[in-house]
Amino acid sequence: MSDTIAQIDEIVARLRDAYPNATYELNWTTPEEMLVATFLAAQTTDKKVNEVTASLFKKYPNPQAFADADVKELEQDLVGVSFHRKKSKALKKLNQDLVNRFGGKVPRDINQMIKLKGVARKSANVVLNCCFDIPSGVIVDTHVKRNSPRMGLSTQTTPEKIERDLMKIVPKEHWTHFGPAMIIHGRYTCTARNPNCAECIFLDLCPRNDVSGRRPALPADFKYKDGWRSSAAPAAKTGDAGVIDGWVEHLAEEMDKPYFQRLVEFVDDERGNHQVFPPEDEVFAAFSMTPLEEVKVVLLGQDPYHDDDQAHGLCFSVRPNIKIPPSLRNMYKELKTDVGVSPPKHGYLAGWARQGVLMLNTVLTVRAHEANSHQKKGWETFTDEVIKLVSRECDHVVFILWGTSAKKKAKLINKRKHTILKGTHPSPLSASRGFFGSKPYSEVNAALRKAGQAEIDWGQLPTH
Ligand code: SF4
Repeated sequence: MSDTIAQIDEIVARLRDAYPNATYELNWTTPEEMLVATFLAAQTTDKKVNEVTASLFKKYPNPQAFADADVKELEQDLVGVSFHRKKSKALKKLNQDLVNRFGGKVPRDINQMIKLKGVARKSANVVLNCCFDIPSGVIVDTHVKRNSPRMGLSTQTTPEKIERDLMKIVPKEHWTHFGPAMIIHGRYTCTARNPNCAECIFLDLCPRNDVSGRRPALPADFKYKDGWRSSAAPAAKTGDAGVIDGWVEHLAEEMDKPYFQRLVEFVDDERGNHQVFPPEDEVFAAFSMTPLEEVKVVLLGQDPYHDDDQAHGLCFSVRPNIKIPPSLRNMYKELKTDVGVSPPKHGYLAGWARQGVLMLNTVLTVRAHEANSHQKKGWETFTDEVIKLVSRECDHVVFILWGTSAKKKAKLINKRKHTILKGTHPSPLSASRGFFGSKPYSEVNAALRKAGQAEIDWGQLPTH
């Protein structure tokens, strides 16, 4: 048991002290409204959702009204919310399900909640925790996911497993407060890139796993309260920050542009008539595995893999049980000669993504077995914006640009702030013309070290 887990009662008590009224920023008056708001908040900021729901809830006062809605009209009513076309259909279905199976009332049981179309554990917990004060579980959003391992409360990396750990150690009567309070703590104090340890209420308890820089000194006679100078709790509420909220906050406007809406329609059409990779829920996996605030490296690829079951949303990476593709095989050879890491038997690179390597393709979807079939439909414009965003918002990022088309992206990057590593593509067609021997992995770590950042552990490649 870690020292912090042994002190969980103290952590819970301090969270209560610091954030006594912690709850969510989404506006609602009934649990059914909260369910709708939570549903709309995926990939959209709470502020935007609140703007939209202000009139939406007047027009559709109950689940029956949403269930009876004209999809096209609802689509217009959701303008401002990301993916409003898709969400209008899904929202109608969710409410039909709610009416048909539960008489239009949110069930007060998480096992029934997650059977509703489009409702996952986090949303179910938000509704049950915040509307009914039911301890159905612990809300694990991007902040809780990041900070639970950092504070020694979990060794897991997925929200589901972290939630399981937290449910074991946090006394049940505190679950409904613990999630929202930890979210505020993560948003304002224990932030992704620059946690404010000197002002933190947990400084004397926290192992600060993966936090670089020296631990700020505590006064010799430190006692919580006496010695605590927290700048915490600037707000009594917090938002339903999804894993990719940080991205959405900055990209919401881009996703509302006509070209992006046309792109979404194009991909939808393609999915209706062909097989498209990666699966719908993994198109943005690179963003959900590497929050904006945690980007340290950008590895740029081109097209997703187009053979069966390969692509899962990270460039160069394939699912664990899939044959390693040739380019990745060459990357592994260089990994061995460069940093002495014996490559795993699989090609699943999520372990890099979780350490801050944004593994971004320039095109995010492809029709099965037709390479480059979704080029020039809008993805390039979108991913250019992503590169510009990282360049603008992050500090000391290392951009890896392999091959001619990736190198062209250098013009989008601020060279005074960031390091750009240009090199030959690892494809079998070019690897022997400069990729082998280029030592990209040690170069990345040298640049990170120089910037005072933790290095990437390139050998950390678990299959889960
Ligand atoms: S001491 Fe630092 S790392 Fe630990 S919880 Fe506080 S801010 Fe986060």
